[in-house]
Amino acid sequence: MKWGIALLGDFKEHVRFLDTTLRDGEQTPGVSLTPEKKLEIARQLDKLGVEVIEAGFAVVSEGESKGVKLIASEGLDAEICSATRGVIRDIDIAIACGVDSVNIIVPVSDLHIEQKLGKTREEVIGMMEKAVIHAKDHGIITELSTEDGSRTDMDYLKTVIRHALDVGCDRIAPCDTVGILTPEKSYGWFADLRKEFPDAFFSVHCHDDFGLAVANSISALMAGADQVHGTINGIGERAGNASLEEIAVTLRVLYNVKHSVKTEFLYETSQLVSRLTHMHVQPNKAIVGKNAFAHESGIHTHAILRNPLTYEAIDPELVGAVRHIVSGKHAGSAGLNSSLEDMGLAPSEEEFSEILRVVKARGDDGERVTDADLLDIARDVMSLEMVNPLNLEEFIVTTGNKITPTSSVKLRLNGDSFIEAATGNGPVDATLNAVNKAISPSARAILDTYSVEAITGGTDAMVNVEVRLRRGDRLVTAKGVNEDIVMASIEAYLNGMNVLLLQEEHPEKRWTVKK
Ligand code: MN
Repeated sequence: MKWGIALLGDFKEHVRFLDTTLRDGEQTPGVSLTPEKKLEIARQLDKLGVEVIEAGFAVVSEGESKGVKLIASEGLDAEICSATRGVIRDIDIAIACGVDSVNIIVPVSDLHIEQKLGKTREEVIGMMEKAVIHAKDHGIITELSTEDGSRTDMDYLKTVIRHALDVGCDRIAPCDTVGILTPEKSYGWFADLRKEFPDAFFSVHCHDDFGLAVANSISALMAGADQVHGTINGIGERAGNASLEEIAVTLRVLYNVKHSVKTEFLYETSQLVSRLTHMHVQPNKAIVGKNAFAHESGIHTHAILRNPLTYEAIDPELVGAVRHIVSGKHAGSAGLNSSLEDMGLAPSEEEFSEILRVVKARGDDGERVTDADLLDIARDVMSLEMVNPLNLEEFIVTTGNKITPTSSVKLRLNGDSFIEAATGNGPVDATLNAVNKAISPSARAILDTYSVEAITGGTDAMVNVEVRLRRGDRLVTAKGVNEDIVMASIEAYLNGMNVLLLQEEHPEKRWTVKK
């Protein structure tokens, strides 16, 4: 009765993670990673501590097998796996890439067997056995993914699993390929399989078509599954796979179940995957969304500042994120006061109510008030003359067809000039790289999020660039508005950097009251 209701099974002492961001996640429509980018993600996943990295589907293309090979030869701690079909050639190509294991995907529902493969149930078992035996003969760890398992006749599924175990298959992953399980069904399904095969190693593989992938995965683990398949940010085909970060934090915080995922690296892993796949994370996404630890409403911020537990179920530090108090129409005195204090500002009571009024008015107009905007508002209201620590003196960027975008910038930081040049994926990237290089390493910030929107239509539109910059446990927001997207980006970046620098230096030295 540990969970308040009578359950047949319980969690394993230690739950293992198989990350399939680079295989099922990469099968997301429109996502295609180069081998080098895959390697970058694999290194991060290894740092995160997952037991298995499914690095790709080696047979799919030359680039894909190159990526798997690159990852397998990196000497990572994690087991490196390639997906294969139940086909000897697939397994040979995976073995040639130097993998530790293969995830042999074999369809088992009648729908898939008849419509997709045009085979019989018996033929599928024969195919699966040959594949497993072939892999085992080459000393490779085998995991059998029974594709569309949740829509498969249970007796047949058990027959497939029995045959697989009989030929030495190491792990079985009954798959909810189209995401039709519910938490109760998932629990019942895995409890049944566990009862039938008490010593087998089971993985759970869920999809999020109904938004239940994480709940279904947790249910399966609760029924005694040994390992869970997930992807970072829940990316994957259609509505995606079960989100690895949500499962990892849920197991740790809500169920107190042991696993090896170093949750403090989840946020940076999410950011890396988002950046390299160009798949944006929705702001309200659990664990890793940019709003997951942001507070605006006056009532909430007031309480949060006294004790974060009042409105936070998860400590942001646990997942490597940072709490952020947002200014806007919902803002209250306590939150605003703490933001101003952080910038070294001490407005009079009168000035403070005027700052609050302007912030709320801007919010009412639909504007997002960034930290840099708040600084501007306060400066106006308090009639302060401000010397920005960081200023742009010059910049040039070249871009075009078949040339690498290159930018050079000259910055003035606390009276000294710094010139740097850098390249990038595009003119914005090149310029921000140059700006970042020019700022001394000790003062540099990480660009946490970058977003751009055209304010008016047409090619002559004004663009609004918003950034979140992070340094250590500090996070600031800023924007830049310009007809030129590169200028708007530099403005946003410098505005944000200036808030960060003001917060960390001795701001009182920078303020003088206008005569
Ligand atoms: Mn899948």
